[in-house]
Amino acid sequence: MEKVVIIGCGAAGLTAAIYAARANLAPVVVTGSLPGGLLTQTTDVENYPGFPEAVNGFDLMFKFQQQAERFGTKMVNDTVVKVELVDGGPHKLELGSGEVIETAALIIATGASPRWLSLPSEDRLKNHGVSACATCDGAFYRDVPVVVIGGGDTAMEEASFLTKFASKVTVVHRRDELRASKIMADRALNNDKIEFCWDSVVEEVLGETEVEGIRVKNLKTGESAVIDCVGYFAALGHVPSTQIFAGVVDMDDKGFIILKNSSSYTNIAGVFGAGDCADSVYRQAVTAAGMGCKAAIDAERWLADQE
Ligand code: NDP
Repeated sequence: MEKVVIIGCGAAGLTAAIYAARANLAPVVVTGSLPGGLLTQTTDVENYPGFPEAVNGFDLMFKFQQQAERFGTKMVNDTVVKVELVDGGPHKLELGSGEVIETAALIIATGASPRWLSLPSEDRLKNHGVSACATCDGAFYRDVPVVVIGGGDTAMEEASFLTKFASKVTVVHRRDELRASKIMADRALNNDKIEFCWDSVVEEVLGETEVEGIRVKNLKTGESAVIDCVGYFAALGHVPSTQIFAGVVDMDDKGFIILKNSSSYTNIAGVFGAGDCADSVYRQAVTAAGMGCKAAIDAERWLADQE
């Protein structure tokens, strides 16, 4: 039986692995379908401390993995398809290959993925003007127009953030009322650089190889219009990758794992959560890494208490 298995190998999972490995727990990381996690989907990461010249997201995650392996982490390139979690352990994990792994402690670091509109044009232009993270990519859009899709707090926050760089930010929202909290909404509504395109949905992202604009349709009038833009930011919320734990691990109504009292403890003894799958608010590489560290320390202490 393994001492600690970590599901997910983004910033949270690999940081948990570094700490667990250095605590001699010989952790096993089951990578999931996107080795390296969401950061590998972006280009330059300019806000991870320690890299004043920016670092490529893929390279950063590769370094995380090398650091975890250096101290004895075993990487398993597979996906967990089924779990059998027992309060106090041991827990059984079934992999896509059919192999079953048993572990005393489990760290869930499965991440979350941005919600997209799933338009073919949106998909085609990802990383060519289409992004889901203004904090990551906003600085690349200096003095050019951008659009933000969505009406929640993330959309307001990203729109306000983008005004630092862009010449103009247009928020496209499908209703005429924002979902965002009043304070965040007011900040955006009072910002001269932000325009709102109400009651509208995106029909197509325009441009062959780079974003050149979007075509929107007004749901009330049925009219279509083109908005020129160079950057397209989806701010439609995130979908936590927690489906296989549904009904067993406590989650909020959106599927984010609920952690106890600022720790990494879940409702099941011996099962810990870290990173974006348990964080609907911050969702940054550095906060995910911090949560991974906490989960490994909590798991180590919990295992010691069992002996
Ligand atoms: P939300 O789920 O709150 O908002 C998502 C937005 O996207 C909604 O306006 C929704 O429209 C729109 N949307 C979703 N799907 C579609 C679609 N298919 N087509 C068009 N529009 C769509 O997600 P957020 O990421 O904004 O916020 C998540 C949580 O994080 C919230 O609890 C929020 O308060 C919190 N947060 C807090 C921040 C802060 O306090 N600084 C910053 C960012 C987030 P509709 O409204 O019509 O449903």
